[in-house]
Amino acid sequence: MGTTAVILGGGYAGVMAANRLAGSGRPGLDVVLATPDQRFVERIRLHEYAAGTRPDPTVDFDSLLHPAVHRMTGRAVRILPAERTVQLADGRTLAYDYLVYAVGSAAAAAPDGAVRMEQLQGATAARGQLAALPAGARVAVVGGGLTAVETAAETARTHGRLRVSLHSAEPIAPRLGTQTRRSVEKSLRRAGMELHSGTPVRADGDVRTSLGADVVLWCAGFAVPGLAAASGLPVNDGGRLCLDSTLRVLGQDRIYGAGDAGVIDDPFYDYLRMCCAAALPMGADAAGNILRSLDGEAGVRHDSGFRGLCISLGRSDGAVQFLTADDSPTRFHLHGRTAAVQKEIICRMTLRWIRGEAKRSGAYTWPTGPQAATTAAPAPMTRS
Ligand SMILES: Cc1cc2nc3c(=O)[nH]c(=O)nc-3n(C[C@H](O)[C@H](O)[C@H](O)COP(=O)(O)OP(=O)(O)OC[C@H]3O[C@@H](n4cnc5c(N)ncnc54)[C@H](O)[C@@H]3O)c2cc1C
Repeated sequence: MGTTAVILGGGYAGVMAANRLAGSGRPGLDVVLATPDQRFVERIRLHEYAAGTRPDPTVDFDSLLHPAVHRMTGRAVRILPAERTVQLADGRTLAYDYLVYAVGSAAAAAPDGAVRMEQLQGATAARGQLAALPAGARVAVVGGGLTAVETAAETARTHGRLRVSLHSAEPIAPRLGTQTRRSVEKSLRRAGMELHSGTPVRADGDVRTSLGADVVLWCAGFAVPGLAAASGLPVNDGGRLCLDSTLRVLGQDRIYGAGDAGVIDDPFYDYLRMCCAAALPMGADAAGNILRSLDGEAGVRHDSGFRGLCISLGRSDGAVQFLTADDSPTRFHLHGRTAAVQKEIICRMTLRWIRGEAKRSGAYTWPTGPQAATTAAPAPMTRS
Protein backbone atom coordinates (compact mmCIF):
# COMPACT_ATOMS: atom_id res chain seq x y z
CA MET A 1 0.00 0.00 0.00
CA GLY A 2 1.20 3.52 -0.78
CA THR A 3 2.22 6.25 1.67
CA THR A 4 1.02 9.83 1.42
CA ALA A 5 3.14 12.70 2.74
CA VAL A 6 1.22 15.96 2.89
CA ILE A 7 3.10 19.24 3.17
CA LEU A 8 1.15 22.25 4.40
CA GLY A 9 2.64 25.49 3.09
CA GLY A 10 4.38 26.31 -0.17
CA GLY A 11 7.10 28.57 1.19
CA TYR A 12 10.84 27.92 1.53
CA ALA A 13 10.50 25.11 4.09
CA GLY A 14 7.52 23.40 2.45
CA VAL A 15 8.90 23.40 -1.09
CA MET A 16 12.29 22.15 0.08
CA ALA A 17 10.60 19.33 2.05
CA ALA A 18 8.40 18.38 -0.92
CA ASN A 19 11.39 18.20 -3.27
CA ARG A 20 13.47 16.09 -0.90
CA LEU A 21 10.61 13.63 -0.46
CA ALA A 22 9.50 13.44 -4.10
CA GLY A 23 13.04 13.34 -5.43
CA SER A 24 13.86 10.35 -3.23
CA GLY A 25 12.01 8.21 -5.79
CA ARG A 26 10.65 6.08 -2.96
CA PRO A 27 8.20 3.56 -4.55
CA GLY A 28 4.62 4.15 -3.43
CA LEU A 29 5.36 7.56 -1.83
CA ASP A 30 2.85 10.19 -2.90
CA VAL A 31 3.85 13.78 -2.08
CA VAL A 32 1.09 16.39 -1.85
CA LEU A 33 1.80 20.09 -1.30
CA ALA A 34 -1.22 22.09 -0.12
CA THR A 35 -0.86 25.86 -0.15
CA PRO A 36 -3.21 28.78 -0.81
CA ASP A 37 -0.78 30.52 -3.17
CA GLN A 38 -0.98 30.12 -6.94
CA ARG A 39 2.71 30.97 -7.25
CA PHE A 40 5.73 30.69 -4.95
CA VAL A 41 6.29 33.96 -3.07
CA GLU A 42 9.89 35.08 -2.62
CA ARG A 43 9.23 36.67 0.75
CA ILE A 44 12.84 37.72 1.11
CA ARG A 45 12.28 40.11 -1.80
CA LEU A 46 9.01 41.68 -0.69
CA HIS A 47 10.68 44.96 0.30
CA GLU A 48 12.05 45.23 -3.24
CA TYR A 49 8.59 44.63 -4.66
CA ALA A 50 6.93 47.10 -2.26
CA ALA A 51 9.42 49.83 -3.13
CA GLY A 52 8.99 49.19 -6.85
CA THR A 53 12.48 47.90 -7.67
CA ARG A 54 11.20 44.40 -8.44
CA PRO A 55 8.22 43.95 -10.76
CA ASP A 56 7.14 40.54 -9.46
CA PRO A 57 8.24 38.70 -6.30
CA THR A 58 6.60 35.43 -7.33
CA VAL A 59 7.91 32.38 -9.17
CA ASP A 60 6.03 29.65 -11.03
CA PHE A 61 5.79 26.60 -8.74
CA ASP A 62 6.38 24.36 -11.75
CA SER A 63 9.87 25.80 -12.13
CA LEU A 64 10.71 24.92 -8.50
CA LEU A 65 8.92 21.70 -7.64
CA HIS A 66 9.89 18.14 -8.46
CA PRO A 67 7.47 16.97 -11.18
CA ALA A 68 6.12 14.17 -8.97
CA VAL A 69 4.82 16.63 -6.32
CA HIS A 70 1.03 17.00 -6.49
CA ARG A 71 0.29 20.64 -5.74
CA MET A 72 -3.14 21.54 -4.44
CA THR A 73 -4.39 25.07 -3.98
CA GLY A 74 -5.99 25.19 -0.56
CA ARG A 75 -5.68 26.54 2.97
CA ALA A 76 -5.72 24.10 5.88
CA VAL A 77 -8.10 25.06 8.66
CA ARG A 78 -7.74 22.06 10.95
CA ILE A 79 -5.47 19.07 11.46
CA LEU A 80 -7.05 15.96 12.99
CA PRO A 81 -4.08 13.86 14.16
CA ALA A 82 -6.20 10.99 15.47
CA GLU A 83 -7.74 10.53 12.02
CA ARG A 84 -4.59 11.59 10.13
CA THR A 85 -6.54 14.06 8.08
CA VAL A 86 -6.40 17.77 7.29
CA GLN A 87 -9.48 19.86 6.60
CA LEU A 88 -9.20 22.55 3.97
CA ALA A 89 -11.13 25.82 3.98
CA ASP A 90 -13.10 24.77 0.90
CA GLY A 91 -14.45 21.66 2.67
CA ARG A 92 -12.07 19.11 1.16
CA THR A 93 -10.30 16.63 3.43
CA LEU A 94 -6.77 15.39 2.88
CA ALA A 95 -5.62 12.09 4.35
CA TYR A 96 -1.95 11.70 5.27
CA ASP A 97 0.45 9.12 6.56
CA TYR A 98 3.03 11.82 7.28
CA LEU A 99 2.46 15.55 7.59
CA VAL A 100 4.90 18.45 7.36
CA TYR A 101 3.63 21.63 8.99
CA ALA A 102 5.32 24.54 7.17
CA VAL A 103 2.73 27.31 7.16
CA GLY A 104 5.26 30.08 7.80
CA SER A 105 4.55 33.42 9.41
CA ALA A 106 3.02 36.79 8.72
CA ALA A 107 3.28 40.26 10.21
CA ALA A 108 2.40 40.63 13.85
CA ALA A 109 -0.87 42.47 14.54
CA ALA A 110 -0.69 46.06 13.35
CA PRO A 111 -2.65 49.13 14.43
CA ASP A 112 -5.21 50.92 12.27
CA GLY A 113 -3.72 52.81 9.36
CA ALA A 114 -0.62 50.61 9.05
CA VAL A 115 0.22 48.38 6.08
CA ARG A 116 1.51 44.97 7.23
CA MET A 117 4.49 44.37 5.02
CA GLU A 118 5.46 40.77 5.57
CA GLN A 119 3.19 39.03 3.09
CA LEU A 120 2.47 39.53 -0.59
CA GLN A 121 -0.89 41.18 0.02
CA GLY A 122 0.59 43.84 2.30
CA ALA A 123 3.58 44.42 0.05
CA THR A 124 1.22 44.90 -2.91
CA ALA A 125 -0.79 47.47 -0.94
CA ALA A 126 2.44 49.21 0.11
CA ARG A 127 3.66 49.31 -3.47
CA GLY A 128 0.46 50.99 -4.69
CA GLN A 129 0.38 53.51 -1.86
CA LEU A 130 4.06 54.48 -2.18
CA ALA A 131 3.79 54.95 -5.95
CA ALA A 132 0.81 57.27 -5.50
CA LEU A 133 2.42 59.59 -2.95
CA PRO A 134 3.32 63.12 -4.04
CA ALA A 135 6.83 64.56 -3.57
CA GLY A 136 7.55 65.47 0.04
CA ALA A 137 5.04 62.97 1.49
CA ARG A 138 6.10 61.14 4.63
CA VAL A 139 6.57 57.40 4.99
CA ALA A 140 7.16 55.87 8.42
CA VAL A 141 8.57 52.36 8.68
CA VAL A 142 7.97 50.73 12.08
CA GLY A 143 10.31 48.06 13.43
CA GLY A 144 13.98 47.78 14.27
CA GLY A 145 14.78 44.39 12.75
CA LEU A 146 16.22 43.63 9.36
CA THR A 147 12.87 43.57 7.54
CA ALA A 148 12.25 47.14 8.69
CA VAL A 149 15.80 48.26 7.87
CA GLU A 150 15.70 46.74 4.38
CA THR A 151 12.21 48.10 3.71
CA ALA A 152 13.13 51.61 4.85
CA ALA A 153 16.38 51.69 2.86
CA GLU A 154 14.79 50.32 -0.32
CA THR A 155 11.93 52.82 -0.05
CA ALA A 156 14.16 55.83 0.63
CA ARG A 157 16.61 54.99 -2.15
CA THR A 158 13.92 54.22 -4.74
CA HIS A 159 11.56 57.06 -3.90
CA GLY A 160 13.99 59.92 -3.41
CA ARG A 161 11.05 62.35 -3.46
CA LEU A 162 9.61 60.89 -0.22
CA ARG A 163 10.63 61.62 3.38
CA VAL A 164 11.24 58.27 5.02
CA SER A 165 11.67 57.66 8.76
CA LEU A 166 12.39 54.51 10.74
CA HIS A 167 10.80 54.03 14.17
CA SER A 168 12.00 51.35 16.53
CA ALA A 169 11.28 50.68 20.20
CA GLU A 170 14.73 49.16 20.55
CA PRO A 171 18.08 50.05 19.03
CA ILE A 172 18.08 49.56 15.27
CA ALA A 173 19.31 46.13 14.14
CA PRO A 174 20.44 45.15 17.66
CA ARG A 175 21.75 41.74 16.57
CA LEU A 176 24.53 43.25 14.49
CA GLY A 177 28.02 43.90 15.77
CA THR A 178 28.67 47.51 16.80
CA GLN A 179 30.64 48.44 13.69
CA THR A 180 28.16 46.87 11.30
CA ARG A 181 25.27 48.57 13.07
CA ARG A 182 26.99 51.95 12.87
CA SER A 183 27.66 51.47 9.20
CA VAL A 184 24.02 50.48 8.56
CA GLU A 185 22.80 53.58 10.42
CA LYS A 186 25.20 55.74 8.43
CA SER A 187 23.87 54.28 5.19
CA LEU A 188 20.27 54.92 6.26
CA ARG A 189 21.11 58.56 7.11
CA ARG A 190 22.94 58.96 3.80
CA ALA A 191 19.70 57.86 2.14
CA GLY A 192 18.08 60.88 3.80
CA MET A 193 16.25 58.96 6.48
CA GLU A 194 15.30 60.09 9.99
CA LEU A 195 16.04 57.39 12.59
CA HIS A 196 13.99 57.19 15.81
CA SER A 197 14.91 54.44 18.23
CA GLY A 198 14.13 53.82 21.89
CA THR A 199 10.52 54.99 21.71
CA PRO A 200 7.73 52.46 21.22
CA VAL A 201 5.17 53.53 18.62
CA ARG A 202 1.75 54.15 20.15
CA ALA A 203 -0.68 51.68 18.65
CA ASP A 204 -3.99 53.26 19.67
CA GLY A 205 -6.00 55.03 17.00
CA ASP A 206 -4.78 55.60 13.46
CA VAL A 207 -1.02 55.22 13.62
CA ARG A 208 -0.53 57.58 10.66
CA THR A 209 -1.79 60.41 12.86
CA SER A 210 0.48 59.60 15.79
CA LEU A 211 3.51 59.32 13.48
CA GLY A 212 2.57 62.25 11.26
CA ALA A 213 2.99 60.05 8.18
CA ASP A 214 1.02 59.56 4.98
CA VAL A 215 1.90 55.85 4.82
CA VAL A 216 3.02 53.60 7.68
CA LEU A 217 4.75 50.32 6.82
CA TRP A 218 4.53 47.87 9.72
CA CYS A 219 7.55 45.55 10.04
CA ALA A 220 7.50 44.96 13.79
CA GLY A 221 7.95 41.21 14.01
CA PHE A 222 6.44 37.99 12.72
CA ALA A 223 3.46 36.08 14.08
CA VAL A 224 2.41 32.57 13.08
CA PRO A 225 -0.94 31.18 11.89
CA GLY A 226 -3.19 29.72 14.61
CA LEU A 227 -3.66 26.39 12.80
CA ALA A 228 -1.53 24.29 15.16
CA ALA A 229 -3.18 25.71 18.27
CA ALA A 230 -6.66 25.35 16.73
CA SER A 231 -5.85 21.70 16.01
CA GLY A 232 -4.87 20.99 19.61
CA LEU A 233 -1.20 20.47 18.76
CA PRO A 234 1.46 21.63 21.25
CA VAL A 235 2.48 25.26 20.70
CA ASN A 236 4.70 27.74 22.53
CA ASP A 237 3.53 31.13 23.84
CA GLY A 238 3.79 32.59 20.35
CA GLY A 239 1.70 29.81 18.76
CA ARG A 240 4.67 28.10 17.08
CA LEU A 241 4.38 24.33 16.83
CA CYS A 242 6.63 22.60 19.39
CA LEU A 243 9.08 20.11 17.86
CA ASP A 244 11.66 17.73 19.21
CA SER A 245 15.22 17.90 17.94
CA THR A 246 14.34 15.61 15.01
CA LEU A 247 11.65 18.14 13.97
CA ARG A 248 8.86 15.79 14.96
CA VAL A 249 5.93 17.30 16.81
CA LEU A 250 5.98 16.55 20.53
CA GLY A 251 3.66 13.62 21.24
CA GLN A 252 3.01 12.87 17.56
CA ASP A 253 4.82 10.26 15.48
CA ARG A 254 3.55 11.28 12.02
CA ILE A 255 3.69 15.08 12.10
CA TYR A 256 6.85 17.10 11.50
CA GLY A 257 7.37 20.85 11.43
CA ALA A 258 9.71 23.20 9.58
CA GLY A 259 10.30 26.89 9.03
CA ASP A 260 8.91 29.91 10.87
CA ALA A 261 5.80 28.07 12.05
CA GLY A 262 7.72 25.52 14.12
CA VAL A 263 10.13 25.80 17.02
CA ILE A 264 12.42 23.19 18.51
CA ASP A 265 11.39 22.92 22.14
CA ASP A 266 14.91 22.92 23.55
CA PRO A 267 16.76 26.03 24.76
CA PHE A 268 19.85 24.85 22.87
CA TYR A 269 18.08 25.83 19.64
CA ASP A 270 17.10 29.34 20.72
CA TYR A 271 19.63 30.71 18.23
CA LEU A 272 17.49 29.45 15.30
CA ARG A 273 15.46 32.55 14.52
CA MET A 274 12.58 32.80 12.05
CA CYS A 275 14.29 33.21 8.68
CA CYS A 276 14.67 31.65 5.29
CA ALA A 277 18.19 30.55 6.23
CA ALA A 278 16.70 28.33 8.95
CA ALA A 279 13.54 27.33 7.03
CA LEU A 280 15.37 25.63 4.14
CA PRO A 281 17.50 23.26 6.29
CA MET A 282 14.51 22.50 8.52
CA GLY A 283 12.39 21.61 5.47
CA ALA A 284 15.12 19.33 4.14
CA ASP A 285 15.69 17.66 7.51
CA ALA A 286 11.98 17.12 8.22
CA ALA A 287 11.72 15.33 4.87
CA GLY A 288 14.91 13.36 5.54
CA ASN A 289 13.55 12.13 8.85
CA ILE A 290 10.27 11.06 7.25
CA LEU A 291 12.30 8.99 4.78
CA ARG A 292 14.24 7.48 7.68
CA SER A 293 11.00 6.68 9.49
CA LEU A 294 9.75 4.91 6.35
CA ASP A 295 12.92 2.82 6.46
CA GLY A 296 12.32 2.00 10.12
CA GLU A 297 15.28 4.12 11.20
CA ALA A 298 15.43 6.70 14.00
CA GLY A 299 15.34 10.37 13.04
CA VAL A 300 18.53 12.41 13.18
CA ARG A 301 18.91 15.51 15.30
CA HIS A 302 18.52 18.76 13.36
CA ASP A 303 21.87 20.49 12.96
CA SER A 304 21.99 23.85 11.23
CA GLY A 305 23.66 27.13 11.94
CA PHE A 306 24.69 30.47 10.52
CA ARG A 307 27.74 31.93 8.84
CA GLY A 308 26.67 35.33 7.65
CA LEU A 309 23.87 37.84 7.59
CA CYS A 310 23.42 39.80 4.37
CA ILE A 311 21.44 43.01 4.46
CA SER A 312 20.37 45.01 1.42
CA LEU A 313 20.27 48.79 1.80
CA GLY A 314 18.83 49.60 -1.59
CA ARG A 315 20.15 48.10 -4.82
CA SER A 316 23.73 49.35 -4.57
CA ASP A 317 24.49 49.38 -0.86
CA GLY A 318 24.42 46.69 1.77
CA ALA A 319 26.14 45.08 4.73
CA VAL A 320 27.33 41.57 5.47
CA GLN A 321 27.80 40.60 9.11
CA PHE A 322 29.80 37.41 9.51
CA LEU A 323 28.43 35.19 12.27
CA THR A 324 29.38 32.30 14.46
CA ALA A 325 27.26 29.18 14.01
CA ASP A 326 24.96 30.26 16.85
CA ASP A 327 24.13 33.55 15.12
CA SER A 328 26.46 35.77 17.17
CA PRO A 329 28.21 38.56 15.27
CA THR A 330 31.95 38.24 14.68
CA ARG A 331 34.22 41.24 14.07
CA PHE A 332 34.22 40.61 10.32
CA HIS A 333 31.90 42.54 8.06
CA LEU A 334 31.54 43.91 4.54
CA HIS A 335 29.83 47.04 3.32
CA GLY A 336 28.81 48.97 0.23
CA ARG A 337 28.37 47.58 -3.26
CA THR A 338 30.27 44.36 -2.53
CA ALA A 339 27.81 43.56 0.25
CA ALA A 340 24.84 44.44 -1.98
CA VAL A 341 26.14 42.02 -4.61
CA GLN A 342 26.65 39.33 -1.97
CA LYS A 343 23.04 39.77 -0.80
CA GLU A 344 21.75 39.46 -4.35
CA ILE A 345 23.77 36.27 -4.85
CA ILE A 346 22.28 34.74 -1.70
CA CYS A 347 18.72 35.62 -2.79
CA ARG A 348 19.33 33.89 -6.12
CA MET A 349 20.94 30.93 -4.39
CA THR A 350 17.79 30.20 -2.36
CA LEU A 351 15.91 29.36 -5.57
CA ARG A 352 18.91 27.50 -6.94
CA TRP A 353 19.06 25.32 -3.79
CA ILE A 354 15.35 24.52 -4.10
CA ARG A 355 15.71 23.66 -7.80
CA GLY A 356 18.84 21.62 -7.10
CA GLU A 357 16.88 19.56 -4.59
CA ALA A 358 14.19 18.94 -7.24
CA LYS A 359 16.88 17.55 -9.53
CA ARG A 360 18.55 15.40 -6.89
CA SER A 361 17.11 14.59 -3.48
CA GLY A 362 19.79 15.31 -0.88
CA ALA A 363 21.64 17.85 -3.03
CA TYR A 364 21.05 20.75 -0.65
CA THR A 365 23.53 21.07 2.20
CA TRP A 366 23.84 23.81 4.81
CA PRO A 367 26.15 25.13 7.51
CA THR A 368 26.33 23.08 10.68
CA GLY A 369 25.10 24.40 14.02
CA PRO A 370 27.01 25.46 17.13
CA GLN A 371 28.13 22.08 18.45
CA ALA A 372 29.35 20.61 15.20
CA ALA A 373 30.78 23.86 13.83
CA THR A 374 34.19 23.54 15.45
CA THR A 375 35.00 20.33 13.64
CA ALA A 376 33.09 20.87 10.40
CA ALA A 377 34.65 21.90 7.12
CA PRO A 378 33.90 25.50 6.04
CA ALA A 379 30.34 25.65 4.75
CA PRO A 380 28.75 27.96 2.20
CA MET A 381 27.56 31.19 3.73
CA THR A 382 23.85 31.67 4.26
CA ARG A 383 22.00 34.82 5.06
CA SER A 384 19.12 35.75 7.15
C1 LIG B 1 10.79 41.71 3.44
C2 LIG B 1 11.38 40.47 4.02
C3 LIG B 1 12.73 40.19 3.82
C4 LIG B 1 13.29 39.03 4.34
N1 LIG B 1 14.60 38.78 4.12
C5 LIG B 1 15.15 37.63 4.58
C6 LIG B 1 16.49 37.32 4.29
O1 LIG B 1 17.18 38.07 3.61
N2 LIG B 1 16.99 36.15 4.76
C7 LIG B 1 16.24 35.29 5.51
O2 LIG B 1 16.77 34.26 5.94
N3 LIG B 1 14.95 35.56 5.81
C8 LIG B 1 14.39 36.71 5.35
N4 LIG B 1 13.07 36.97 5.61
C9 LIG B 1 12.28 36.01 6.40
C10 LIG B 1 11.80 34.85 5.51
O3 LIG B 1 11.07 35.35 4.42
C11 LIG B 1 10.93 33.89 6.29
O4 LIG B 1 11.58 33.54 7.48
C12 LIG B 1 10.69 32.65 5.44
O5 LIG B 1 9.84 33.00 4.36
C13 LIG B 1 10.10 31.50 6.24
O6 LIG B 1 9.90 30.42 5.38
P1 LIG B 1 8.67 29.41 5.64
O7 LIG B 1 8.73 28.39 4.57
O8 LIG B 1 8.67 28.99 7.05
O9 LIG B 1 7.37 30.31 5.48
P2 LIG B 1 6.81 31.18 4.24
O10 LIG B 1 7.86 31.48 3.26
O11 LIG B 1 6.06 32.29 4.88
O12 LIG B 1 5.77 30.18 3.57
C14 LIG B 1 4.64 29.73 4.27
C15 LIG B 1 3.66 29.15 3.30
O13 LIG B 1 2.56 28.56 4.00
C16 LIG B 1 1.37 28.95 3.38
N5 LIG B 1 0.29 28.86 4.36
C17 LIG B 1 -0.03 29.72 5.35
N6 LIG B 1 -1.10 29.28 6.04
C18 LIG B 1 -1.45 28.08 5.48
C19 LIG B 1 -2.46 27.13 5.75
N7 LIG B 1 -3.33 27.30 6.73
N8 LIG B 1 -2.55 26.04 4.95
C20 LIG B 1 -1.65 25.82 3.95
N9 LIG B 1 -0.67 26.70 3.67
C21 LIG B 1 -0.55 27.81 4.42
C22 LIG B 1 1.67 30.36 2.92
O14 LIG B 1 0.72 30.80 1.96
C23 LIG B 1 3.06 30.16 2.34
O15 LIG B 1 3.02 29.58 1.07
C24 LIG B 1 12.49 38.12 5.09
C25 LIG B 1 11.12 38.39 5.28
C26 LIG B 1 10.57 39.54 4.74
C27 LIG B 1 9.10 39.80 4.94
